[in-house]
Amino acid sequence: MDYNPKSLKAEEFIHDGEIRDTLRWAEEHKNDLPLIRSLLDRAEDCKGLTHREAAVLLKCEDEELRQRMYALAARIKDRFYGNRIVLFAPLYLSNYCINGCRYCPYHGQNKHIPRKRLTQEEIVREVTALQDMGHKRLALETGEDPKNCPIEYVLESIRTIYGIHHKNGAIRRVNVNIAATTVENYRKLKEAGIGTYILFQETYNKAQYEYLHPTGPKSDYAYHTEAMDRAMEGGIDDVGCGVLFGLNLYDYDFVGLLMHAEHLEAVHGVGPHTISVPRLRRADDIDPDQFDNGISDDLFEKIVAILRIAVPYTGLIISTRESQACRQRVLKLGVSQISGGSRTSVGGYAEEDQEEEDSSQFEISDRRTLDQVVSWLLDEGCIPSFCTACYREGRTGDRFMTLCKSGQIVNCCHPNALMTLKEYLEDYAAPETREKGLRLIEKETEKITNPKVRETVIHHLHDMEGGLRDFRF
Ligand code: SAM
Repeated sequence: MDYNPKSLKAEEFIHDGEIRDTLRWAEEHKNDLPLIRSLLDRAEDCKGLTHREAAVLLKCEDEELRQRMYALAARIKDRFYGNRIVLFAPLYLSNYCINGCRYCPYHGQNKHIPRKRLTQEEIVREVTALQDMGHKRLALETGEDPKNCPIEYVLESIRTIYGIHHKNGAIRRVNVNIAATTVENYRKLKEAGIGTYILFQETYNKAQYEYLHPTGPKSDYAYHTEAMDRAMEGGIDDVGCGVLFGLNLYDYDFVGLLMHAEHLEAVHGVGPHTISVPRLRRADDIDPDQFDNGISDDLFEKIVAILRIAVPYTGLIISTRESQACRQRVLKLGVSQISGGSRTSVGGYAEEDQEEEDSSQFEISDRRTLDQVVSWLLDEGCIPSFCTACYREGRTGDRFMTLCKSGQIVNCCHPNALMTLKEYLEDYAAPETREKGLRLIEKETEKITNPKVRETVIHHLHDMEGGLRDFRF
């Protein structure tokens, strides 16, 4: 079986031999400083790096070059994403699960975790609470259980969510993180109007994957690994990849992740819309200390920076699994989306007692409210963005990537970020956050170079004070 990025067979596009060769080659060349300098020179053109090239950067331990990588990642981030950070929240619909994942407390053998599935009325309560915080973008999360949580339930829930308009609130983009499924079901999700389909690979190492997933439908490595191809066949052109760092040797999964991105680009003409970099967390009956492959904050930071260099146009997502301090470190190195005010329990947003998180999937590190996160981003000189315009304007898949690669996307994203921030400040912000935010909007509006766009933005910002909402480019 040869390595073939264009193959539709998991073991040919995620090729164990190619990953091991890559890591060997990277180890041999990690002190070849001229080589690494030349790769960094080339990466300045923002065309990305191959999995081999990225692997040698990952292995390089030279301090001066590490600093150069971080500076380059920050420049690339600035070029494509500016100082914008998009905000979202996860919404747990159901924690029924028939899989046996060794790292997740939803595994079927866990008999003491309370199992819950939100009714449509409960979803209304959850989403109302999320809208009252100011959220416009959600990631739906479920365990895998065709009986207790069938696709029809997920589809009905999406319809319910899009239909909830509470005060000035609305959820304008629903991303979905559910188990690998069939082309037919992906088509249904597409028709229901989802944004990104997210599925974490957990680990690309087949043997380790099979050890970690001993039972249930998720134990089929090929079916799971080929899910993004089925999703794209079903018409979903924005997919989100990720590995759960801590489950396997980080370098193997880092290379696998980039090979997966190369495969999607080779076959479908467009790589993943986003990459997530979750790390394993403590949870109900899960002790991360029982796993040997945890990575330090320093290494985590390096992985984020090199991903930004290797796949310049792909969104990078950091969740509240990471602490404020850790999120601070990676903010400028390439992250484009973060969650805020998250609950990982089923029904966690509407529950009175926020400490009561019996059904939660894992412990959160960053427990700040959304307003605290927004205020922090403003202090960091970032524009907190609630924008969902690309997806609603049909700028998805290769259309988005083409605009992104040409640098034109900034003409939409920057004004949209300012206008959605203004909505947040008008409707949800604490007085101090509002003041800071308004100052930032004023400063950032001046930076809009196209006079016509600037004039339109100023007009819309003014209209928002009169109660109008949902302007976008
Ligand atoms: N059930 C879906 C599936 O099979 O892919 C995905 C939904 S699950 C709610 C979302 C993700 O949470 C998983 O893909 C996994 O990477 C992550 N996760 C599970 N247990 C975790 C833990 N203990 N710490 C951090 N993340 C965890």
